[in-house]
Amino acid sequence: MEHYDLVIVGGGLAGGLFLTALQHHHPHISTLLVERSPQLGGNHTWCLHEGDIPERSRPWFLPLLSHSWDRYEVFFPSHHRVLERSYHCLKSEDFAAKIASRCGSAATSKPTPPLIRLNSEVTGWKKDSDGETLLEIRGQGPTPVAASKPTLPVAASKPTLVRCHSVIMAGGWQPLADPKSFGWQKFVGLEVRLQRPHDLRWPILKDVRVPQIDGYRFFYTLPFSSDQLLIEDTYYSNHPGLRVERIEREIYQYAERQGWRIGEVLRRETGALPLAMNPPAMAVSEWPVLGAQSNYFHPVTGYTLPFTLRMIQDLMDHSNLTVPSMQKVMQLNFHRDERRFRFLAMLNRMMFLAAKSETRYRILERFYRLPLPLIERFYSGKVSLFDQIRILAGKPPVPLGAALKAVRRQTKVDENSPAASP
Ligand SMILES: Cc1cc2nc3c(=O)[nH]c(=O)nc-3n(C[C@H](O)[C@H](O)[C@H](O)COP(=O)(O)OP(=O)(O)OC[C@H]3O[C@@H](n4cnc5c(N)ncnc54)[C@H](O)[C@@H]3O)c2cc1C
Repeated sequence: MEHYDLVIVGGGLAGGLFLTALQHHHPHISTLLVERSPQLGGNHTWCLHEGDIPERSRPWFLPLLSHSWDRYEVFFPSHHRVLERSYHCLKSEDFAAKIASRCGSAATSKPTPPLIRLNSEVTGWKKDSDGETLLEIRGQGPTPVAASKPTLPVAASKPTLVRCHSVIMAGGWQPLADPKSFGWQKFVGLEVRLQRPHDLRWPILKDVRVPQIDGYRFFYTLPFSSDQLLIEDTYYSNHPGLRVERIEREIYQYAERQGWRIGEVLRRETGALPLAMNPPAMAVSEWPVLGAQSNYFHPVTGYTLPFTLRMIQDLMDHSNLTVPSMQKVMQLNFHRDERRFRFLAMLNRMMFLAAKSETRYRILERFYRLPLPLIERFYSGKVSLFDQIRILAGKPPVPLGAALKAVRRQTKVDENSPAASP
């Protein structure tokens, strides 16, 4: 029977990052990563701010980046600003290729190359008489590394057992227990090749000079090369529904208005990320849980990358990678962030419950007048008490009565995890 020190369940962003960090910090740990789909990473463009990257993660994380820019800009109806700080992105196809290229298909050398099993799913587990874990895995054969041909449905394949010391779950977003206590950041993005080069030198993170329908709405554009852009139409809305075809037409119209003539659509991407109006609570599981499955995400953006990175670095630095020690580090991180989560969830209540849909943008317009270091701390979820006061100081951009009501409002979900436990 195959035996590993550690098995990672889920080869998306969190699982892939954890594997990469392990290779850097603990190359002698034998690892298996199990991913249900035929490729690692799914179909995403993940972005983050410079301040989201922990110093100690830089050696293993920076090589994963697909693009970096040294500034970005925002456009609001009455405010424009260029923010002179780097912004980075990882494309999931690059991410998958880089991770797969460093993994082996057999444990032939030391340090042991980790193995990746695609088209495979962890469907159960039990303990053996030595206290080791036996994982039941269904799906394709033992060690396909690269994306491969269609396979048998996972459920129809014969299970194999794998023995391991530790397991870490990184299975992605789970169904929400109470969707009503969430707002949504939802978007449709087209990665396009233009007929002519554009003149964009850095990302436009928010272009709010568009009709404010279905909540706070903005366009988000990343320039990948002189004629290649990712253009996303994004909504901070009270519901997750997306009319993809209609929004794609809007993207074409927006591009036209910027003078960008779309020649070819290279890739499509959609998402609806939950924005917590009550502070997210740590997912409870027998195993340590990482990434979206753990509920450790930014309440106001739904982004997991800054939080996942920080958590992984803390696990590398402060745990011995046994199950109890990883769970302890995770609890400490959640505990440290509890107060910040309460503040960020309260901002969401102001946004989704107090502000009128068409004037929500004013909250963000005001926010983007604040000092750059504060903006960076906000996005990485590290707002200090002083930052919280700065963010709230002055005349509120929403009606005072409604704001106070939203601030006080807590639903019964507050004491429980908002998302289903794994
Ligand atoms: C289109 C899109 C863009 C986003 N952009 C950003 C961004 O720019 N910045 C940011 O911080 N966040 C972003 N997010 C939010 C979040 O970071 C992503 O959803 C991210 O992919 C979450 O990472 P994860 O590893 O937790 O989950 P996922 O990346 O979804 O990975 C989970 C993986 O686990 C696999 N799996 C689940 N159960 C099993 C099992 N039992 N056995 C085997 N495999 C299993 C799934 O197949 C999946 O591949 C974005 C989300 C979307 C949808």
